[in-house]
Amino acid sequence: MFVSVAVNIPSEKTFSYAVPETLHEEISIGKRVLAPFGKRRLTGYIVEISKSAPREDTKEIIEILDLEPLFNETDLKFYRWVCQYYMYPPGRALAEILPGGIDPKSDQWISVAKEEQERPDGRMSPSQRRILDTLTQHPDGISLAHLKKMFGKKDVTRDVNSLKSTGLITTEYRTKKPQVSRKKEKIITLNIRNLNALKLTKKQHFLVDLLRGHGSLPLSALRAQFTCSPSAIKTLEQKGIISLTEEEVSRHHGQSPDLGIRGKTITPNEDQECALREIVKGLESARFSPYLLHGVTGSGKTEVYLNAIEKALAMNGGVIYLVPEIALTPLLISRFNKRFPALEKAVLHSGISRAARYDQWRRIQRGEIRVVIGARSAVFAPVRDLKLIIVDEEHDTSYKQDDRMKYNARDLAIMRAKLNAATVIAGSATPAIQTYFNTMKGKQTNLILPKRVEDRPLPEVDIIDMKKELGGDDQAVSPVLSRALQKAIGETLENKQQTLLFLNRRGFHTFIFCLDCGHAFQCPNCAVSMTYHAGEDTLKCHYCDFAIKLTPSCPGCHGNRIRSYGLGTERLAEEINKLFPEARIGRMDSDTMIRKGAYENILRSLYTHDIDILVGTQMIAKGHDFPGVTLVGVISADTSLNIPDFRAAERTFQLLTQVSGRGGRGAFPGRVIIQTFNPHHYAITRARDHDYLRFYEDELALRHTLAYPPFSRLINLHLSSSKKEKGLEGLERLKHIMRTLAPATTPQGKVEIIGPAESPIAKIKGKYRWQLLIKGSDIGAVKNLAKEILSKASVTGLDIRVDVDPINFM
Ligand SMILES: [Zn+2]
Ligand SMILES: [Zn+2]
Repeated sequence: MFVSVAVNIPSEKTFSYAVPETLHEEISIGKRVLAPFGKRRLTGYIVEISKSAPREDTKEIIEILDLEPLFNETDLKFYRWVCQYYMYPPGRALAEILPGGIDPKSDQWISVAKEEQERPDGRMSPSQRRILDTLTQHPDGISLAHLKKMFGKKDVTRDVNSLKSTGLITTEYRTKKPQVSRKKEKIITLNIRNLNALKLTKKQHFLVDLLRGHGSLPLSALRAQFTCSPSAIKTLEQKGIISLTEEEVSRHHGQSPDLGIRGKTITPNEDQECALREIVKGLESARFSPYLLHGVTGSGKTEVYLNAIEKALAMNGGVIYLVPEIALTPLLISRFNKRFPALEKAVLHSGISRAARYDQWRRIQRGEIRVVIGARSAVFAPVRDLKLIIVDEEHDTSYKQDDRMKYNARDLAIMRAKLNAATVIAGSATPAIQTYFNTMKGKQTNLILPKRVEDRPLPEVDIIDMKKELGGDDQAVSPVLSRALQKAIGETLENKQQTLLFLNRRGFHTFIFCLDCGHAFQCPNCAVSMTYHAGEDTLKCHYCDFAIKLTPSCPGCHGNRIRSYGLGTERLAEEINKLFPEARIGRMDSDTMIRKGAYENILRSLYTHDIDILVGTQMIAKGHDFPGVTLVGVISADTSLNIPDFRAAERTFQLLTQVSGRGGRGAFPGRVIIQTFNPHHYAITRARDHDYLRFYEDELALRHTLAYPPFSRLINLHLSSSKKEKGLEGLERLKHIMRTLAPATTPQGKVEIIGPAESPIAKIKGKYRWQLLIKGSDIGAVKNLAKEILSKASVTGLDIRVDVDPINFM
């Protein structure tokens, strides 16, 4: 018997091994093996089994590392597709996708077989006999790890395996089970909805408001978040406004603190019903059914997802529910538990321990857990009878993995649904251009939720032209906050309501613009923003390497007031503090959110109104529901508009819409103020008008003119080197290679090479970085050219990573 094994090395090949007789019964696709590789021993995954010998000489595998497989053939078909598409070595890909890193045999237990068996002592080796004797003395069994320690000599695995094959001993997995006890707690539920006629104290009012947003809350969570006396609650109970009940709480993994926010039981509105009916059709068809759930912020997409999950479960299907951020899961999980109290689910993300992940993975593989919730990597979970995949906030950039294998989980979800004949729902208020384009081409069904739940209005958005704020002679004007925004913050404070201030920074601190006409410098070849390099006083294009000296006069209006603008959240918080010393200010960005629990703490203090103003980066733009926030301020819409990427406008529109959507989710209407130097840019005006369709049309026309996706396919080769000089030499060699390539023209049009150019972030973790774009309308031709470059690129000495832009899944 022979197996093909994918080994964790940078090679596209898999390797053949012979299987020793003793291991024949254990062989299965999806198990890990230890195998000799040159002078080393490496771990690999069995991806094929065959009876006939391969042509080349084969060595024997040493050991099988898993008792049960980590994936089956259907999963493997998907994994194979993934590494082929992303041009990534299969062994590497599997090592990244699958849980590993813990000793898989540490929790393997061995015991003497229950049934009386005759010991064929004569045919046993002395070591086998000793193992059997030891086991007889331990009727409850011994862990393999312990047995190895006791014997202290070479591997006992082989002996254990042969004893097992004679039926004298049994092996099984044992995991330490947590002590399970039933836990009860008091739940407060709001009884009366129309509260206008009631006289309430301020605290009571706030409590009622909190409940109105969430239906019911556990008392303990409320106490932890909100200082309210038992008597206040009692009074409300006596008035019949709230009621207290006792409920059993279902536990989950404990790694994500419960925010205590419970999902209310909602009857779906007409639009939600309509979307759901379509989705059910897809589920019942048992065919590949891709949907876009296009709902404005606050339109109740989650409710549709939960109903769809219920349906899929009723059909005995498995479900994967992807969310963009780990930080979003506590809220979702509370809501999920409330809806499916008895259902067991797995939560997979990088924050959980490897051992837990390995454990959960196997239980999913066995079909014991049918629902998986998680961040992008959960798309690989070996869910059995997969019927439904949900990708919430499908436009979100965190679905894209930017290091190692550069995949997009949203695209993969669609591909996986296709391979499994399943239903996939990608939901967003601001779908990716590529996704919407798919719906226009009829590849994906568009389901629309045009209104917010309970018909709450979308917030009013004002655009402030910062040129006017900065350009005037009035030196008293703050360079950070416009007068309008200052005034609005003041008013919000006075009304005892809350403000979110949003500043997108993301590594691009400074951009250059003209104070008179707002001209932002773009590359004439690529139409992406150029980046200012202060040291050389030049502007550079990070796609094609085009560079110009910064001239004192503006190419747009020939004025001479060119300025730079840059600001971080820390300084913003300081400024706000100066202007509003009495306000309680919180800050949420990747610097302040490192500590464990910091995120939950800040969300909690926002809910309980211990913060008046929250200053943050794009982290605050995502999916949260803050009932007390009535003002949202965007400090500079230009920071994301000036990211050197052809998707800058798309990102800006998405961010502005998402961040605006945070306001006015409670009882009061919201207000949004956007500060910008480009008040007429379509990404900004369309976001103000909440007009996705117009934005899509504007953006699509531009993409068409410039032949960017979805009108072309892109491969970005990320080049890096730890020494700058060596890197530059390699780059010269690469340019030479490119000149020798035959001009690549296909019937579908030509393939272009753009660059190499310095990457937008020129140095990360001590590595100097460049990029090379390959662009064309035919993905096959683009990939072939990339492969040709890669096959010759070893002489450059550069580390090269491939980034294949979106999947065209039909
Ligand atoms: Zn100008
Ligand atoms: Zn360029």
